[in-house]
Amino acid sequence: MEVKTIGIVGAGQMGSGIAQVAAQVGGFNIILNDIAEEFVNRGLKTVTTNLERLVEKGRLTSEEKEAVLGRIKKSVALRDMEQADFIIEAATEREDLKINIFRELDKLCRPEIILASNTSSIPITRISAATNRPDKVIGMHFFNPVPVMRLVEVIKGLATSDETFQITFSLAEKMGKTPVRCNDFPGFVANRILVPMINEAIYALMEGVGEAKDIDEIMKLGANHPMGPLALADLIGLDTCLAIMEVLHKGFGDDKYRPCPLLRKYVDAGYLGRKTGRGFYEYK
Ligand code: NAD
Repeated sequence: MEVKTIGIVGAGQMGSGIAQVAAQVGGFNIILNDIAEEFVNRGLKTVTTNLERLVEKGRLTSEEKEAVLGRIKKSVALRDMEQADFIIEAATEREDLKINIFRELDKLCRPEIILASNTSSIPITRISAATNRPDKVIGMHFFNPVPVMRLVEVIKGLATSDETFQITFSLAEKMGKTPVRCNDFPGFVANRILVPMINEAIYALMEGVGEAKDIDEIMKLGANHPMGPLALADLIGLDTCLAIMEVLHKGFGDDKYRPCPLLRKYVDAGYLGRKTGRGFYEYK
């Protein structure tokens, strides 16, 4: 079956970025869904701003921008996903929420439709077990910011079929990305390595080893990272970082993944990083 329309559930940082590249690079029609119109509008505004920037830089014409935006349809009802040929779920990183979404999608979508999750850490095998099509459930893990980052981890759950894997892999390529295969273990590959490093940087901050800007500068210069771990945490979202650490901690049962109490405190305070204007740094 040819994929023409992609349904995206969740229009936040990731969902809006995925909508942009799928419509712009892949030429797909998009149904962009969230729980309230204001969230879908916010996602679409991000896409519009990104595209306008490309027009200013001369990398896209105004007509092309309008055509891309014209391919993205707004949705606040999950049943709109009935019309999609492939689903990418990019809702908040909470297992109960994702399981519910997949249960609903399983009822709504045609049996041959693949249901992919952009989860950063929740086991694909567990999500797939909530459906009657575990062979058609897969991880499709994009990186932030989606229009810039090339990697997509394509994660095979225990029951994911080779056909599902191949279709998802080539769909990521059509979106201009470089998919890489990995298997279903907590955090997959990138976040299993990256987020504990971020967590350790937060411990270093909490223990007064250095100030935020100095910890970041040391890692930029010392490890040749393009951005420091605390600035990266702000970009990812501190709630997402905490959720990933909790999944690693629970999934491996190993205290080396214990979330830093300061990370928890910032999340409790609503300091979630760039998306709320404050995390380890302030954003105007
Ligand atoms: P976000 O908070 O920016 O967006 C999440 C969106 O999901 C919100 O707009 C929220 O309203 C919406 N949502 C919540 N419940 C929903 C429901 N039932 N139906 C439809 N929409 C719903 O978060 P994000 O950073 O875009 O993360 C989304 C997913 O992508 C998470 O699973 C996260 O782990 C993953 N991810 C995040 C990053 C990152 O760097 N932020 C990178 C890769 C993957």
